Amino acid sequence: MSEAEARMEMVRFDAAVVAAEGELLAIQDRVRRTLGEDEAEVFEVQILLMRDVELRDAVRALCFDKRMNAQAAVDEEIKQLSVLFASLDDAYFRERASDLHDVGRRLLDQLAQGGQPISPELPDGCVVVTSDLLASVVAQLEGRSVRALIVEKGGLTTHATILARSLGIPMLVHVPNACEQIRNGDLVIVDALAGRIFLNPEAEVVDKYAQLQVDLQVHRSALKDLVDLPAITLDDVAIKLSANVGQTADAVAAASVTAEGVGLYRTEFVFMVQDHFPSEDEQYNFYRSTAEHLPPGETVIRVLDVGSDKPLNYFPLPREGNPALGCRGMRLLFANPTILHSQLRAILRLSASHPVAILLPMIDGLDERRAAKAAIKQVKADLATAGQSFNPRIRIGTMIETPSAAILVRQLADEVDFFSVGSNDLVQFLLAADRISEEMVSTYDPLHPAVIQVLARLVRTAARKGKPISLCGEIGSDPVYTKLLIGLGFRSLSVSPGRLLDIKHAIRSTRWCDAEDLARRVLQSSSTSDIRALVLDDWHRRSPVPSPPVEPRTSARHS
Ligand code: PEP
Ligand code: MG
Repeated sequence: MSEAEARMEMVRFDAAVVAAEGELLAIQDRVRRTLGEDEAEVFEVQILLMRDVELRDAVRALCFDKRMNAQAAVDEEIKQLSVLFASLDDAYFRERASDLHDVGRRLLDQLAQGGQPISPELPDGCVVVTSDLLASVVAQLEGRSVRALIVEKGGLTTHATILARSLGIPMLVHVPNACEQIRNGDLVIVDALAGRIFLNPEAEVVDKYAQLQVDLQVHRSALKDLVDLPAITLDDVAIKLSANVGQTADAVAAASVTAEGVGLYRTEFVFMVQDHFPSEDEQYNFYRSTAEHLPPGETVIRVLDVGSDKPLNYFPLPREGNPALGCRGMRLLFANPTILHSQLRAILRLSASHPVAILLPMIDGLDERRAAKAAIKQVKADLATAGQSFNPRIRIGTMIETPSAAILVRQLADEVDFFSVGSNDLVQFLLAADRISEEMVSTYDPLHPAVIQVLARLVRTAARKGKPISLCGEIGSDPVYTKLLIGLGFRSLSVSPGRLLDIKHAIRSTRWCDAEDLARRVLQSSSTSDIRALVLDDWHRRSPVPSPPVEPRTSARHS
């Protein structure tokens, strides 16, 4: 077996782990619903064993040093570990030997079958090429071994992209004519970091990418050293680093990188994977099971923000010419009070046992904020009458993602417990540039001076009013922006769990006083390209970061 083939064996091993983990998560979910939380916990251990870096390293060594194929390497390593576990004095570890055995069998099944195809149209390890992609479709890919997504339309902050990022599926958007040029059976390499596609590449390119993939894995393993270290700058300024989650896999990922709680729980993904509106009890169970996977800390649950690029198949919305400016978020909930009330009841019931807060999306000003508060008050009264317990002092926050809310931040501060800046929408509305339009990819620019000035003002005002403010939009998950955001005054970021360690690394490589200096220079500039030059120049001059940067605006891509 050549070295390149050994690399391909590792690629197969990684795909088998992803597919097997998906199977386990699905089983865990079923067990949780039918048998309960304790029984479901067993699968947690198996997922951890399967994801263990040491298992991967051992399999890798066998593939490379002994030239074994992935099946033989897994078989060998699991046998050795089982013997070791079984011989230990500690009863807990002895019992884990049977979990290991199970993990081994599952991985071998996956490797033998090349993974269970999710459907005839999506074979294991495939790259999906499509003209458009909805978030609800991406939500169904959880646990399936789709290697990459190539989409003709779309932008970097569409919900399909956000979800793919959180599932760790590389995705390239804005690839014109992809469906015409790429055919079934073609060999495709998707380099989502560089924004490149290789169609039926030469053997040297395949070799190069097999090596790059291994390097990326090494980089990710190196970042793991940061898991238990605090998110502090070089001069000891602490940044709260919490996670954005939307599904159980995110919750597990957030816990594995010890996020400080959840700054944004997008509940719409819970609704998207259903074929009906989940009942209050179903929602309560979903939220509770997600909360139970999370690390200690507060979970900020955002009420349903469907509409625009997050439709629900079972809830057709009126056709609108401009859905991003239409009936979505709180507006849609106010128009459908039964949906709002059942969700608030589920969240409030959870607040009796878990530290949760409520976040209101797409608020446009004080009237909507007050109407939402009145709805929460009503639901609290109903629950109290029914003898249901809840936290009467549950914190209620407001997203700042409309220009009107940004303008009214001072007045809103008197009525909210905290703010969360939704830069994805805020940028689109400030710049009148559709976040999901491929035509707007270069116009939709978070480094526009108007955006930067608004962000600076939001932080200043919230600080003056003593109200906590965090940022949960995608710029928070891109290390290129980290120093600028710190310099602008953000002390709390909520980021994609898969990027959390990259962001922690960026924080730990930043000196707060330098960040302030960068923000000062950026604020003095009124040109987007000058600001980009400042930010990128600063990024490239920093000490080497073991992470391939996702630079803003160079192309439509993400990893
Ligand atoms: C945002 O707009 O930045 C945000 C976090 O909300 P979403 O991306 O879900 O619209
Ligand atoms: Mg938003």
